[in-house]
Amino acid sequence: MPGRFAPTPSGRMHIGNIYAMLGAWLSARSRGDGMLLRIEDIDEPRVVPGAAELMMDDLRWLGLDWDGEPVYQSARHGLYEEALRCLERLTVDDAYGSAKARNSASIPLIYPCFCSRADIRAASAPQEGDRFMVYPGTCRRLIANDPDATRQRLENGDRHSLRIAMPEKASHNSTIHFDDEVFARQEFSLPQDIGDTIVRRADGLFSYQLVVVVDDLDMGVDDIVRGRDLLRSNALQIAIRTALIAAGFQSHAARTTATRTATTPQSPYSPENPHYAHLPLIDNAEGRRLAKRERSLDMGVLRAHGVSPEQVVGYCAWLLGLQGDRSCTAPRPMSAAEALQEFDWSNVRVDTADRSISQDDFDAYFGL
Ligand code: GLU
Repeated sequence: MPGRFAPTPSGRMHIGNIYAMLGAWLSARSRGDGMLLRIEDIDEPRVVPGAAELMMDDLRWLGLDWDGEPVYQSARHGLYEEALRCLERLTVDDAYGSAKARNSASIPLIYPCFCSRADIRAASAPQEGDRFMVYPGTCRRLIANDPDATRQRLENGDRHSLRIAMPEKASHNSTIHFDDEVFARQEFSLPQDIGDTIVRRADGLFSYQLVVVVDDLDMGVDDIVRGRDLLRSNALQIAIRTALIAAGFQSHAARTTATRTATTPQSPYSPENPHYAHLPLIDNAEGRRLAKRERSLDMGVLRAHGVSPEQVVGYCAWLLGLQGDRSCTAPRPMSAAEALQEFDWSNVRVDTADRSISQDDFDAYFGL
């Protein structure tokens, strides 16, 4: 089963994006598996025209190939709508099992939320580093205690998003565990660490958290490699994936079970239970996470300076830990095929600290 590149076309890729793409490509190709490309252009206001084409050109130039045609999220609204309809058929009890102590009827798994961002901010604890804000539950209490009031507001046409409810604290399935290839065993409490999360925004856009799970299931992806800032999201995505499966949303693999069991009988992973690897992040010298506006680390600038694909891949392989101890070795150019020879997750997980790029060393290596 395949892995995937899932870039957001919001600008030219920089060295941090390439490092994550290289990790995803090496993981899939080292298993002898396919690699799919999904252009995550669902959040239309963030999309920069032409960025997807430049990303594909950069990936090809680097030798990071993929199989088949790219999938564009912007062309899949019907699928996301269908997935949402499936989830809307469930109650919280259907999705997670009943809470041990309960004095009210189970609420719908997907419920309307009329809160503005300002309302939520006012009622919430400060955000943590990954900008996750646990929803304080205002509209969940409304639908639980006064469903007529919720109905009335919907009838009035009040602007609302849709949220997926997390299990109650007392329920059996309120904690998500998963094994990460780099960060080892992870544990998150759905009600405490995550909270009820928007799946469709008030402006009608489907949220990243929903569509990424729908797409991975639908495309049959069983290898998910990306930055460690999504570790907490991964727990939420596992909950969404479990609910979708419980609601009867069919994964690509489930639709083609016969071929799957015939081709990969020994893999412990499947689109229902993927392999996860979250990578340390890349910071600049000031310790800030790289942003697409970090011009000097951007592929456009590097290519305009005449750097080679091997220099870029080698640098990212070095960041991944595939060229030995980074504190005593300098990066050296290598092709994607050579990096594949060196690839082993045990080398990546030797050091799980975020990587910091010194601009001087970077400029010296690339001859800028
Ligand atoms: N499109 C997301 C990003 O660019 C990737 C998310 C994912 O891999 O699930 O950060």
